Amino acid sequence: MRKVRSMIDNKGLLIVISGPSAVGKGTICKELIKNNINNLELSVSVTTRKPRQGEFDGVNYFFKEKEDFEKMMECGEFLEYAQVYDNYYGTPKENVLDKINNGKDVILEIDIQGSKQVKENYKDGIFIFIMPPSFEELKSRIMKRGTETQKDINKRMKCAFEEIQQAKFYNYIVVNDDLKNAVEKIYCIINAEKCRLSRYHVDFSEFKEEL
Ligand code: 5GP
Repeated sequence: MRKVRSMIDNKGLLIVISGPSAVGKGTICKELIKNNINNLELSVSVTTRKPRQGEFDGVNYFFKEKEDFEKMMECGEFLEYAQVYDNYYGTPKENVLDKINNGKDVILEIDIQGSKQVKENYKDGIFIFIMPPSFEELKSRIMKRGTETQKDINKRMKCAFEEIQQAKFYNYIVVNDDLKNAVEKIYCIINAEKCRLSRYHVDFSEFKEEL
């Protein structure tokens, strides 16, 4: 009999994680990668935003000038891209697809406009929206981070309200009330997705030969 394992699609998963600013997406993603029980890798995006203190080129983002980003756009090098706040952000296509084809599960931590593009172009993607436990909690997290000006905070809160309305386009909602809990839920989602019938390329009637 063919081993059941050999019938599973060995392509990796494309997991898209979105949510409002300061909801804790970055921390959740770092934690997911750190424990790495699922062969996970985080895609490093390209951005025209300037690095924040403690961010490094090629680690947190590939930091580029606007002209360079636009060249990449014209050459079709992005799986998706979007203007978020006042900067461009994009996911390098080749990088991500190579990893998936080599069996790695790849996480994209991207905004909603980008997620919608991925949903159109990559039908097997898994879309997870991270929700704050409350709006007040979200505001307090943005303020505690201390990296944005008051003007930026107001802009991000207004965007957060609009973003939460878009959660209905996702497959899963995970409330980030507790980091460990949220990470655990995402591992459960990933494990369940790996058991999907559509990942098994098999005609089950062939088991009859074994009777
Ligand atoms: P930040 O400037 O705080 O690092 O990110 C701002 C927003 O841009 C976040 O919502 C983040 O998820 C989103 N973002 C980061 N990388 C990408 C990307 O490659 N594509 C898109 N569409 N959004 C991104």
